[in-house]
Amino acid sequence: MAIISSKQPAPESDGHPKRRRASVEGSSRKAAAPEASILQPVATAEEEGKQEESLRPQRLADYIGQKDLKGVLEIAIQAAKGRGESLDHLLLYGPPGLGKTTMCLILAAEMGVNCKITAAPALERPRDIVGILVGLSPGDILFIDEIHRLSRMTEELLYPAMEDFRLDITVGKGSTAKTRSLPLPKFTLIGATTRVGSLTSPLRDRFGLIQRLRFYEQDELTLIVQRTAEILQAPVTQAGAEEIARRARGTPRIANRLLKRVRDYAQVKQSREIDQEVAAQALEVFNVDPMGLDWTDRLVLSVMIEQFNGGPVGLEAIAAATGEDSQTIEEVYEPYLLQIGYLHRTPRGRVATPPARKHLGYE
Ligand code: ADP
Repeated sequence: MAIISSKQPAPESDGHPKRRRASVEGSSRKAAAPEASILQPVATAEEEGKQEESLRPQRLADYIGQKDLKGVLEIAIQAAKGRGESLDHLLLYGPPGLGKTTMCLILAAEMGVNCKITAAPALERPRDIVGILVGLSPGDILFIDEIHRLSRMTEELLYPAMEDFRLDITVGKGSTAKTRSLPLPKFTLIGATTRVGSLTSPLRDRFGLIQRLRFYEQDELTLIVQRTAEILQAPVTQAGAEEIARRARGTPRIANRLLKRVRDYAQVKQSREIDQEVAAQALEVFNVDPMGLDWTDRLVLSVMIEQFNGGPVGLEAIAAATGEDSQTIEEVYEPYLLQIGYLHRTPRGRVATPPARKHLGYE
């Protein structure tokens, strides 16, 4: 299987959209804001590199968790193979770092086809997508990350390409302009997005399968930590792996990143293996609390509790009070806080729940 990647590098060195420093007036739980959170789920530049590739599971059987998704895809693979056809177009959605790219590479390996990886920001001009489409071989998989960010022209080129495996190109300008159709090989488009609601319906409707990736359970993340530790040759005890998993926000990318930082710590402290104590101490140093909350999570919650009496409070008001970008709060922080039940969304705004109050030490 050939993997050709033309993803653009992360827009910012820490991969964190528009991070701003913030302070809360009157918050009794202030701490120094770290420069970049170790818990942000977007890949850093380092994580787009070669070593990272070695951590990805290669086959469906090695892909831990996401049972429902795997069940659906196993059937799709078998059916497509049985008919000697390519896979249906597939849309994967869910927060960053849950394994969308990994799943795409696995599907290519299972189908025995090439995989071309790109991202919407790299397909700004129509000729970018045209160049890729005409270079595909029958059965190939084209993976487009952040597919909700496609330009309108690129998206419109994709409609006939996905539906009829045809490329409609306009040649010439004005009254002499003509549309020419080029046949394309049958390929599979796999789109990945963190914002499925931002996709236009004509694009969404052209996917045969639309699947959501969920945050991982504790025991699944523990297995992921153990698997990565084995690849990195970093001895870890069961309790050590569990401690890292507990703080990894349900996200494999974060679990792997935490493991690497804990490994450094263990090495410097000359610990033979990563046990629970070493893992907890190391993650304390990196400001990751026992529930996997970082400085900004705690800031968001304490602002809600102290300044808005726990809510309901609107997203914009939280953003203004914390100095964070509202989109960052919505996409990066909120999903996990909702997942662990520290935050509720109501029609009148966000509410900090009793477990959140308890965790932060409020009565
Ligand atoms: P996404 O495309 O959703 O942002 P990736 O596919 O790049 O996420 O996954 C991030 C990292 O997490 C990968 O490098 C891989 O090592 C690890 N990972 C993701 N899903 C799994 C899984 N189910 N089992 C084991 N490791 C995983």
